[in-house]
Amino acid sequence: MAKKKIGFIGLGAMGNHMAKNLIKAGYDLTVHDLNPQAVKAIVSCGAKEAKSCAEVGKGVEVVLTMLPADDEVKAVCLGQGGVLEGAKPGTVIIDMSSIAPHTSQLVATEARKKGIKFLDAPVSGGTVGAEKATLTIMVGGDKALLDEHMEILQVMGKTIYHVGDVGMGVTVKMVNQMLLGINLAGIAEALVMGTKLGVAPEILYKVIRASSGNSFLFDHRVPNYIFTGNFTQPGFALDLLRKDLGIALESAKANKVPLFLTGQAYQYYTRAAAEGLGKKDMSAIIELLEKTVGVEVRKGKVLN
Ligand code: NAD
Repeated sequence: MAKKKIGFIGLGAMGNHMAKNLIKAGYDLTVHDLNPQAVKAIVSCGAKEAKSCAEVGKGVEVVLTMLPADDEVKAVCLGQGGVLEGAKPGTVIIDMSSIAPHTSQLVATEARKKGIKFLDAPVSGGTVGAEKATLTIMVGGDKALLDEHMEILQVMGKTIYHVGDVGMGVTVKMVNQMLLGINLAGIAEALVMGTKLGVAPEILYKVIRASSGNSFLFDHRVPNYIFTGNFTQPGFALDLLRKDLGIALESAKANKVPLFLTGQAYQYYTRAAAEGLGKKDMSAIIELLEKTVGVEVRKGKVLN
């Protein structure tokens, strides 16, 4: 069977790798992004450029979106010049952004009115997973529709789960982000504490990795970001994590669920964003605590 024609909107830290992998797999890709440089880079790999989201929708069978947050997904899909304006009935939108469940459900409802189908398919695995096509993808929506598009998702991800109806993909992602945000704030707090009390950061890393305080995040973020002090390399922006925790808190309010630790973590990241760290990788949260206490958790740091 001929490969489906795909549109891709949102060629940022994640989307650019995902789009490149689709091109490599032989898909005919039409792309759009507000950032002309991002578009140029993907067009140079073989994609076609569309001047608007409606134009993307017009010429393809499947539209993938990888956008920062709820407002952008609403603007791209439902707004003036958006995908729904151009897409024919039967087109499928697969939104891979991390957004609130009620927004996925809203977009799905508006799409259905025009005969357009919708899956929410957020991802986990970061920019490395996007580049290596090893993302975990959690999909909400019709299972048969997912099966029909499995081949496309498998180009970008290694593990693909069907987790329920529309909105459940982003719900599972939200739960993952709560764990991520709480864990990372804990790592930052604990490492600053240990360093302030006089343990060499490398000793902390070596021993914790072999102990019960270890985690996936600890293993990766400590050597690659915290020890190098390079928080501006491609990663997961602190602002995006703060957005995800905000989604969880909104959802908790609507569902009357107390989220004590998520609330605390949200305040940490909000303070960090207010101090100008929002565009850096989320592990820059440690800079906030380091400044407060007057230590730096870096490899080879000679402590006073
Ligand atoms: P990003 O900000 O790097 O990229 C978003 C892209 O969308 C940008 O290129 C931007 O120009 C484009 N865009 C924004 N508004 C647009 C519009 N109206 N029309 C067209 N293009 C528009 O974000 P990212 O890091 O790639 O993340 C995308 C989504 O994936 C977010 O929801 C994020 O939470 C989630 N996510 C990110 C990571 C990560 O490690 N970066 C990991 C998992 C999930």
